[in-house]
Amino acid sequence: MSTTSLEKISAWLQEYARVIGEHEAELTDLDREIGDGDHGSNMVRGMRAVAGLDLAAFGDAASYLKKTGMTLVSTVGGAAGPLYGTLFLRMAGQLGSGDALDTAAFAGALKAGVEGVTQRGKSAVGDKTMVDALVPAVECLEEQASRGAELAAALPEAAKAADAGREATAALVARRGRASYLGERSVGHIDPGAASAALLIESAARTLV
Ligand code: ADP
Ligand code: MG
Ligand code: MG
Repeated sequence: MSTTSLEKISAWLQEYARVIGEHEAELTDLDREIGDGDHGSNMVRGMRAVAGLDLAAFGDAASYLKKTGMTLVSTVGGAAGPLYGTLFLRMAGQLGSGDALDTAAFAGALKAGVEGVTQRGKSAVGDKTMVDALVPAVECLEEQASRGAELAAALPEAAKAADAGREATAALVARRGRASYLGERSVGHIDPGAASAALLIESAARTLV
């Protein structure tokens, strides 16, 4: 039997939970530089709760993504909780039940998710947030979908785009979130949310294949 979209999305989020645990100290250190030093623990708390969801309770990937979003909203706390929550809730809304998880479907779902983040956060590319890692990943996936690339080939490229977006946040002045209180003093530091968002796309590249 082939792997269902639900099983694939679950493998992705289990991997993300593992990777967030592995990078907790790093995310916390980044947030200590330009925020309040809790991004690692916030994300670990949320992704532990997501990893604990019982797959058997969900009929399809969309209902599982919806529960993931709700779980993050209720457990993460801080700015990142509602924003990551919105990302997954909007992905759930976009992903039709029974849709094959190909490059176009994943690109479309992630795009809807990221648009939710920018609406809710009133943020755009260049504001030094998670959006700076997520938008390049979406653009890369859309471009690859238009060329008919397989998801297994497209995601590693999207992960590279997200990584580059994360690195580019170091040169930016923060305009949203806690780091914006620092103004020019935020320059020279990578945004913690951009770092956790790049890990999300890297996790996808290892699992959604
Ligand atoms: P808090 O800042 O409340 O302590 P976290 O430390 O968990 O929350 O998350 C901080 C991250 O959230 C930032 O690094 C940034 O990427 C992201 N963030 C904060 N505000 C916004 C916003 N308005 N739009 C997009 N992302 C944001
Ligand atoms: Mg914080
Ligand atoms: Mg906080």
